[in-house]
Amino acid sequence: MQITFLGTGTSSGIPMVACDCAVCASANPKNTRLRSSVLLEKDGQSLLIDASADFRAQALRHRIRDLTAVLITHIHADHIFGLDEMRRYNQIYRKKIPVFLSAVFDREIREVMRYLYETPKQIGGGVSALDNRVLKPLEPLNIAGLTVTALPLKHGLLEIFGYRADNFAYLTDCSFIPEETFTALKGVDAVALDALRATPHPTHFSLAEAVAAAKRIGARETYFTHIAHNLEHEATNQTLPPHMQLAYDGLIINV
Ligand SMILES: [Zn+2]
Ligand SMILES: [Zn+2]
Ligand SMILES: [Zn+2]
Repeated sequence: MQITFLGTGTSSGIPMVACDCAVCASANPKNTRLRSSVLLEKDGQSLLIDASADFRAQALRHRIRDLTAVLITHIHADHIFGLDEMRRYNQIYRKKIPVFLSAVFDREIREVMRYLYETPKQIGGGVSALDNRVLKPLEPLNIAGLTVTALPLKHGLLEIFGYRADNFAYLTDCSFIPEETFTALKGVDAVALDALRATPHPTHFSLAEAVAAAKRIGARETYFTHIAHNLEHEATNQTLPPHMQLAYDGLIINV
């Protein structure tokens, strides 16, 4: 399986609007971070985890011609507003895009993006045609040729999903990993894990918390993502233990 980090930034993206800090002003492209998302590809099928608010730019940059399905971790705007761009694939392939998510987020997204799910009042414009499918936690399912398991995570008070797909795990936007999820992560080769910044935050792992969780997961390689402008890429990487690094936009790994 090939994994492409389409975006590794926190909800604001980096550079942040109207910020002149050293990271936002950095000339190093690894400090430029679109909103977080990964693309998993195997045997000609492709699975997108989160349709970020920057999906259009990401699809153009990486020439994403089709998606087999989309997994949604939670319905904060940075993770779902790219669903509007699915309409292009609907037009080309004349099919709905399957979107997998929790039962709670299935209900809520129909309010947040109501125009995608209601019968149009007039012809024209065109909105994405999505086929929502509810996932139960910890029940493996074959999606796009991968064995996918939804993993319970806490994002502050919010209960969201991380995902394991074969031996890769994507755990964004989390501040707590339940025991059952640690158990389900046994044997993963590579993990992408939320690490917002150095100082603690109520709804995201700090870098130190993420390093501690990564040690417990024990993957061969760990990549931190959903990064704020407080973490400079090269300087931060020099402080990390072996086999742990900040991910960056465009990073491609094979698992
Ligand atoms: Zn987020
Ligand atoms: Zn900044
Ligand atoms: Zn979030």
